[in-house]
Amino acid sequence: MADFQHIVVLTGAGLSAESGLSTFRDKDGIWAKHDYREVATPQGFERNPLLVHEFYNQRRRALAGVGPNAAHVALAKLEREYEGEVTIVTQNIDPLHEAAGSENLIHMHGELLKALCARCGTRHAWEQDLGLETPCPACGKTGGMRPDVVWFGEMPYHMEEIAEELIAADLFLSIGTSGNVYPAAGFVAEARAHGAHTVELNLEPSEGVSFFAETIHGPATQIVPAYVERLLNR
Ligand SMILES: [Zn+2]
Repeated sequence: MADFQHIVVLTGAGLSAESGLSTFRDKDGIWAKHDYREVATPQGFERNPLLVHEFYNQRRRALAGVGPNAAHVALAKLEREYEGEVTIVTQNIDPLHEAAGSENLIHMHGELLKALCARCGTRHAWEQDLGLETPCPACGKTGGMRPDVVWFGEMPYHMEEIAEELIAADLFLSIGTSGNVYPAAGFVAEARAHGAHTVELNLEPSEGVSFFAETIHGPATQIVPAYVERLLNR
């Protein structure tokens, strides 16, 4: 295996699915049961903020008792033990990468365990339910608190930093992502254009499979630890 200096790992819902968290886009996923326009857009929040709060309160409560799986643990080990740089860019809003010990982590779609105050713009660690009467810990105002997650129609976070990572990457891994959600689906082409070796690790071939130089298909909890061992023992 080539000597990689800078590994960028993109992760998605398929990684957390094996920890027991529902995916969003599968045929029995969350968007099959909830209309994303009602619960995951700025317009939906304006129309019915209580419904949106309830939706994310449920998601937040669903984290109780859920822990990182062998794939999260392997990626944390890679960051800890690999000689080169390892950055994880995750589309997941759950805290399972942190729980496994990953530190060099970019949450491009925000975090379920953070709240954002639309009145004063501050972010807060948040484990409780959110509601219309929840006061902001910084400005004290109610009615402005929202989950700090990126909704449909909103710009993902940290895009400049991610662009720099994709330029610097010489190995790009895409793990558990469906390959049909932009801008993340375009990262492989970006990394490849800047010379990175690209690998898809996914349960099945994604919609973007043809963009990858190498593909490995199977359950993340099996193929990710195996691939990490290859990198560490190369
Ligand atoms: Zn505030």
